[in-house]
Amino acid sequence: APHLIWFRNDLRLGDHAAVAGAARAGPVVALYVLDDEAPGDWRMGAAQRWWLHYSLAALARDLEARGGALLLRRGAAATVVPAVAAEIGAAAVHTLTHYEAWAKVQDAAIAKAVTLKRYHGALLAPPASVLAGSGGRYRIFTPWWRKLQEQMPPARPQPAPEMTFAKAPAGDTIQDWRLLPAKPDWATGFDVWTPGEAGAAARLADFLEVASDYDKGRNLPSQDGSSRLSPHLALGEISIRQVWHAVADAVPAAQAEPYLRELGWRDFASNILDQFPDHGDVPGRAVFDAIAFRDAPADLAAWQRGRTGYPIVDAGMRQLWTIGWMHNRVRMIAASFLVKHLLIDWRVGERWFWDCLVDADMGNNSLGWQWVMGSGVDSSPFNRVFAPVTQSAKFDAAAYIREWVPELANLRDADIHAPWEAEPMMLRAAGVTLGRTYPYPIVGHAEGRARALAAYGAVAG
Ligand code: FAD
Repeated sequence: APHLIWFRNDLRLGDHAAVAGAARAGPVVALYVLDDEAPGDWRMGAAQRWWLHYSLAALARDLEARGGALLLRRGAAATVVPAVAAEIGAAAVHTLTHYEAWAKVQDAAIAKAVTLKRYHGALLAPPASVLAGSGGRYRIFTPWWRKLQEQMPPARPQPAPEMTFAKAPAGDTIQDWRLLPAKPDWATGFDVWTPGEAGAAARLADFLEVASDYDKGRNLPSQDGSSRLSPHLALGEISIRQVWHAVADAVPAAQAEPYLRELGWRDFASNILDQFPDHGDVPGRAVFDAIAFRDAPADLAAWQRGRTGYPIVDAGMRQLWTIGWMHNRVRMIAASFLVKHLLIDWRVGERWFWDCLVDADMGNNSLGWQWVMGSGVDSSPFNRVFAPVTQSAKFDAAAYIREWVPELANLRDADIHAPWEAEPMMLRAAGVTLGRTYPYPIVGHAEGRARALAAYGAVAG
C-alpha cells in the first residue's frame, strides 16, 4: 500500500525525516493542503502566500524530476488528509511535527482517523526535550541555550532519499489557488528572492562567503551581513540541521557561535509557543493587557506606509512592504516605535508583520513583538524605549535610508538620521522640504517616550 507524505512548512526533500520514513516504507504519494481554516486568524499572510506559490511550484518540479508529482488539495487538513489517505488506500501518513496550537489540535484529530507517523525535524531539538534539572521547562533563553548544548551538534543532515511513487489522484493546480497578489506591482520587489529548496541552498552558499563576519555585519542594516535564510527556514525549504552544519563546517567555532545562537532563538521561540499556545495574542504577563493603547488610525497608517518622519523607521517599513523582509535591527526599532512612541497595541503591529513578511513565523514573530513590548514570559524590562535617531546613527544606517527613503538621498550622513534638526540650507541643497517632500516626525522622541513610560508604568510599575 502507498504511504502518504503530508508536507507542511517543510517544503523540501533533503534532510526530511518524514520523506525518508515514507520512502523507506513503500511507494509514496506527496500531498500539500492549503488550509485556511485551522489556523483561524493566523492563516498564511499575503506576502508568504506569494512565496508559497513559487515554493510549491519548485517542490512539484523536484518531485517530477524523480518521476513523481505533488498533489494539491484545499480545505481543513483534518478532513482532507484522512480523505486523501482513504482515496489512495494509504498504509500511513508521514509528516514533521509542528508546534502551533492549531496544528496540535488538527494532528490529534487526524491521528484518530489514520495512522499518523510524526517525525522530529522542524527544529534543532524537540521543545519538550530540553528540560531544567527540576524537570521543568525554560522561559529564559540563556539557560535554555546552555542546556540545549547537551544535544548539540544536531545529527548530520541526510540527503534526499531514493523514492518510488504510487499514482497520485487528481488535485488542484497551483494557479487555482490564486496565491499571487491581485495587484501585481505589490510583488515586483520580491524578485530579490528565489523560493524553493535549490534557492535556499544557493542563499546558504552565498552566506558562507561572509559568515565569518556575521557578528559584526548582522547589526548594520546598510550591509548584507545576515543570512536572509529566514523565509526559506519559515517554509522549511532548508533544514535547520543543514544550516547549522554548513556554518559550523565553514567557519571557526568562535565565529560560528553567534550565528548558531541566532538559530537557537528560532528553536527557543517554538519552545515558548509550545508552552504558551496563545503567545501570539496574549501577553506573557497579564498586566500588559491593561495598557491604555491608543486607537490612532492616522498614526498607524503613517507607520505602515513608512511616513512617520523618522527615516530609520520609514526605511524599515518600506523595505518590509517592498521585499517582504526587514533587517532584524530595524525590526526592533520599528516595532518599538509602534508600541512605545505611538502607543499602539503590539497585536496590531504583529498582524501587519504577519501579512507583509515572507518569513512570517508564529513563534519568531510573537517572541519578537513580546520582546519589544517587554511583556514576555521572560520578564524582560518594559521601560526600554529604542531611540530611533541614536540607533540609526550608531548602526550607521545612512546608506540603508538612502536606498529605502530616496527623497532623503542627498542629505549628508550627519543630517539623514534626523532631517528636522538639519540646517535649512542643508535641507534646501538636498531638495528636502519637510512637511512636503518628507514628513515632520509624527511624535517627538521625548514626548513619545514619556507617554509610553507613563502608560506602561501605570500597569506594570
Ligand atoms: P540571521 O541573522 O541570518 O539569522 C539566521 C536565522 O536565525 C534566521 O533566519 C531566523 O530563522 C533565526 N533568527 C535570527 N534572529 C532571530 C530572532 N530574533 N528570533 C527568532 N529567530 C531568529 N523572524 C522570523 O523568522 N519570522 C518572523 O515572523 C519574525 N518576526 C519578528 C518580529 C519582530 C518584532 C522582531 C524584532 C523580530 C522578528 N523576527 C522574525 C526575528 C528576526 O528579525 C529574523 O529572523 C531575521 O531578521 C531574519 O533575517 P536573517 O535570516 O538574515 O537572520
